[in-house]
Amino acid sequence: MLIREIETKHILTHSKLPGLGYSINPYVGCQHACVYCYARFMKRFTSHNEPWGQFVDAKINVTDVFGADILKVKPGEGAFIGSVTDAYQPVEARYKLTRSLLECLTNLPPNLFHEGFAVSILTKSDLVLRDLDVLKRLEKISVGFSIAMMNEKACRFFEPRCVPIRQRLAALKTLREAGIRTYAFISPILPGITDLPSIFAALEGKVEYVCGETLNLRCGNLAETLRAASLWNEELRPLFEQNTRSLNYWKSVERQFYELAKKHAIPVNGFFHHIASETY
Ligand code: SF4
Repeated sequence: MLIREIETKHILTHSKLPGLGYSINPYVGCQHACVYCYARFMKRFTSHNEPWGQFVDAKINVTDVFGADILKVKPGEGAFIGSVTDAYQPVEARYKLTRSLLECLTNLPPNLFHEGFAVSILTKSDLVLRDLDVLKRLEKISVGFSIAMMNEKACRFFEPRCVPIRQRLAALKTLREAGIRTYAFISPILPGITDLPSIFAALEGKVEYVCGETLNLRCGNLAETLRAASLWNEELRPLFEQNTRSLNYWKSVERQFYELAKKHAIPVNGFFHHIASETY
């Protein structure tokens, strides 16, 4: 694993995410190395030859550039932390860049942000619990965990360096009990692997809302995802080939998603479709 320190010009970048005008990514690259990761396209903005998952660039000057960036944000806008990296991947334990940014967010100019600044963190790591003290000081904070499967063996195979699902669920419970708004991002939904009924059952009482997302195969992750799916279970390859480009298939998944959300009384805050355009 190659870890490099870099300097960045900006830490707040424009985003098209609904309700959140900006993204914050304190690192480039991600140690979690999920086989289906769509963020691997970020490698093209680096000089790395290492495969995705084998390098991380830590933006060590994030707090220096934060002050100037935040002044450009219009009142009412917010930020999403972790759109193309996991801000709580293992290297965060050493650099504390995410923590330092959260501390900056607790000291925003009150004349500009008197209505608060919405912050949403998405992670797969319970390292986020380290920062509970800072999270509690943020007015409009929500913390979400990505969950794509309940089978821990499958999790170790497809998400090799992420914490087990049971740890993510326990972290959601702890955050919720501490008064933090929590959510689950059920993503990516993988044909034959993502067990929606089990996931919804496990989330009951732990999240305020859920979002869903279909498998995104438009970011150079097709080969790796198919290879891993076939290795995990050779019957999955035809299932992926048949379904990932089928709008009917994803519509039926979406219907099941909403039915389960209703059954478990968990509000849905979006279901995102990515119909695969790449050919197999
Ligand atoms: S945690 Fe997210 S950003 Fe990191 S490798 Fe997995 S999918 Fe990619």
